[in-house]
Amino acid sequence: MLALVTGASRGIGAACARRLAADGYTVLVHYHRAAGMAEALAAEIGGTAVQADLGDFSQIDRMTARIHEQLGRVDLLVNNAGIALNGLFQEVSDQDAMRLFLVNVGGVMHTAKRLLPDMLHAHRGCIVNIASVWGECGAACEVHYSAAKAAVIGFTKALAQEVGPSGIRVNCVSPGVIDTDMNAGHDADTMAALAGETPLGCIGQPADIADAVAFLASDRARFITGQILPVNGGFYL
Ligand code: NAP
Repeated sequence: MLALVTGASRGIGAACARRLAADGYTVLVHYHRAAGMAEALAAEIGGTAVQADLGDFSQIDRMTARIHEQLGRVDLLVNNAGIALNGLFQEVSDQDAMRLFLVNVGGVMHTAKRLLPDMLHAHRGCIVNIASVWGECGAACEVHYSAAKAAVIGFTKALAQEVGPSGIRVNCVSPGVIDTDMNAGHDADTMAALAGETPLGCIGQPADIADAVAFLASDRARFITGQILPVNGGFYL
């Protein structure tokens, strides 16, 4: 079984890659810039590192063509890669807003589009998209990010309906606040406040998301599609 995990050089993606490898997948460890980290992880788990800027569709085309021709049919796509964007809505530049949507929505949809033909041909496959609690409830000063993650949720539900009859499941994990580089810009007080607002009293770890992804990818979830699985410690109910 072959899995492609996007943004697997670090954070949630790296945890997913490790967990899926432990579950028996051969993992394609996708990265954008962190070649050294992706290659080290690929060596650790017996996978292969693959590179693309997911904000550039021609690079997605090149990467997926290489996978198709040299590495095999992808059984599981984990659309994890994403970028954050903080700032007041009206102060975010058009360029930054477009870039966010290109990577966080365009990259997710185009990668799935390019891998679906092989899944449709095999009449089997699984896609797990990583959204965000902000895509469910929205967040001030992260309006573009929230809107993009809401689009990922909408994409998950719509595609699940379209490809379900072809034996392909599409689900979404919606993380709350997770301890990764994406939150490295927050100071200790902010992180403590976020933990304090979480009923379970702490922020999450990348492995918490990887466990949910592994479940949705497994046969234990064979009758689950089009769903959004929140993994947020009760932060948003
Ligand atoms: P992270 O530690 O910042 O890692 C981001 C990953 O995405 C890296 O592997 C990075 O690759 C890749 N990436 C960034 N820009 C890319 C691009 N243009 N093309 C291809 N890959 C790109 O992030 P994370 O916290 O693990 O987040 C993973 C996912 O979970 C994201 O979709 C994020 O929105 C979502 N999420 C995170 C949290 C959280 O609290 N951390 C909460 C909710 C949702 P390189 O390292 O190679 O540059």
